[in-house]
Amino acid sequence: VSAAIQIGDRFGRLAVVALSPQRRRGYKVWICRCDCGAEREITTSNLKRHTRSCGCVSVEKLVAMNTRHGSARKGALSPEFKAWQAMKGRCTYPGTRGFEHYGGRGIKVCERWRDSFENFLADVGPKPRPEYSLDRFPNPNGDYEPGNVRWATPSEQQSNRRNVPHLTIGGVTKRVTEWARELGVSYSAYKARRRAGWSAEVALKTPPYGRPT
Ligand SMILES: [Zn+2]
Repeated sequence: VSAAIQIGDRFGRLAVVALSPQRRRGYKVWICRCDCGAEREITTSNLKRHTRSCGCVSVEKLVAMNTRHGSARKGALSPEFKAWQAMKGRCTYPGTRGFEHYGGRGIKVCERWRDSFENFLADVGPKPRPEYSLDRFPNPNGDYEPGNVRWATPSEQQSNRRNVPHLTIGGVTKRVTEWARELGVSYSAYKARRRAGWSAEVALKTPPYGRPT
């Protein structure tokens, strides 16, 4: 059994600076300062098991992997690097497939990301799973810039592209497709109900094959 964590302890790049008043899943939460300057709240359990930086170490590893091998070995490029290259291509070079939907429509990559894969990765983070792809969200007509880009699943991309309206129920605003998924009504059933004159909320809250009350 290892000793209890104390203020001043170090875990890799992290120095423990204070104990937070909150708890997470029963664990104490420590405020840690990373050598890169970032502050993070990290639980006792994560500090003891594996967390050794604010996240900057994994970003650096990916960057190193991508710059060391360069484009000479395509297989060595990380999915994040490929996504960054492809994003720049479709916004910048008229010969790129899909350019007419991006650069051709005036969609740009922000200056911060244009020449720096490192900045891009630091802002967007690693891809959560292989099937995720880069999505402009919440504004599908906006630029690739911090605050308007996320890694999205294919179905998130789909619902974003369709330009689905937002709806507020009980003070919570979501896309209608997200409400539909959550409430167990298919989006096509929702649309049919709306065409039949049901209100948006009743169309979402009435179970399949149900009647509005
Ligand atoms: Zn850091």
